[in-house]
Amino acid sequence: MARTHDIAVLKGDGIGPEVVEATVQVLEAVQASVGDFRLNFLFGEAGYHCIAEYGTNLPAETVAMLKGTAACLKGPMTTPEEPSAPVSVAVTLRRMFNLYANVRPCRSFPRVEALKPNIDFVVVRENTEGLYSGAEFELSPGVGVALRIITREASLRVAEFAFKLAASRRKSLAYVHKGNILRITDGIFKEAIKDVARKYPDIATEELHIDAATMQLIKRPESFDVIVTTNLFGDILSDEAAQVTGSLGLAAGANMGDTYGMFEPVHGSAPKYTGMNRVNPIATIMAASMMMDYLGEKEAGARIEKAVLGVLGEGKVRTADLGGTFTTSQMSDAIKDRVSRL
Ligand code: NAD
Repeated sequence: MARTHDIAVLKGDGIGPEVVEATVQVLEAVQASVGDFRLNFLFGEAGYHCIAEYGTNLPAETVAMLKGTAACLKGPMTTPEEPSAPVSVAVTLRRMFNLYANVRPCRSFPRVEALKPNIDFVVVRENTEGLYSGAEFELSPGVGVALRIITREASLRVAEFAFKLAASRRKSLAYVHKGNILRITDGIFKEAIKDVARKYPDIATEELHIDAATMQLIKRPESFDVIVTTNLFGDILSDEAAQVTGSLGLAAGANMGDTYGMFEPVHGSAPKYTGMNRVNPIATIMAASMMMDYLGEKEAGARIEKAVLGVLGEGKVRTADLGGTFTTSQMSDAIKDRVSRL
């Protein structure tokens, strides 16, 4: 009997529904093409658009549904910025499911202009604490404080994840911090990395301050393999990395815990392009490829990736971010068509 995977799908806000629907179609095509597994999609409501109806961006029904699934494909969501508003859905889900490692692969794609042609690294960002702990206060009018919480436990956990990943790749790991200024918090992070490094003697390590790392990412992006860092530094570095390799429209991310995975594009909801059928769905499609890998459906993950590389390599179907005139649905049709022919 075919293996069945229950997948939660949150379409999100802005361009989210367009890129997620395009991705579900590619997943259906790969399911038909590989043939020995079944994906059971469970659609849930979440995002900014829910607040007016439910009073929250993450209704309880959606949380209950997510808990019964093996993984989540999440579209981008608009984050409310008023101080009293609910925190971002991504941040809530990362905490709720203990998705402690945010994994963002960055690579050069065929025929996509990048800083260098041979970039292939992964940013692993600690996902549960740091400046995203949500502990922010206004002490008195005009005087605000945000707590940057760094624990040895969370640092060890993400370090272990990053070293294992480096062991399966080119065996090189850069760890990024600002320990010269944030001596206590980044001191804890740094020591945790060094302790885990002792268990992986054949992995070469490099220590970088965040300011130098942002510069080196431009200067020698091809030299990196795995980069591990704390939450905010990782957020900034991975957006920079997405641009170094071409377009935010191509960058995918995974939020991994020990028992659950949530997969999403790195980009946000790009509200100005809502409903225009204009943006690139590849970031979300590549996130779905990572999700298939995570579910153990390696062949399906590989076929999606191969189809994306094939379409980009052919250079015919290109969305506006890649200098073309093709639409979101034309891009996903081209990828679907290739998946079906693999
Ligand atoms: P954004 O990523 O939504 O858009 C920035 C620009 O990047 C867009 O104007 C567009 O030019 C380009 N872009 C983004 N996605 C693209 C795609 N698929 N194809 C082609 N070009 C693309 O960033 P923003 O404008 O800063 O944020 C908009 C909203 O999204 C905010 O509310 C923000 O908080 C939220 N956000 C959510 C997530 C998430 O859900 N994980 C991530 C980042 C931002």
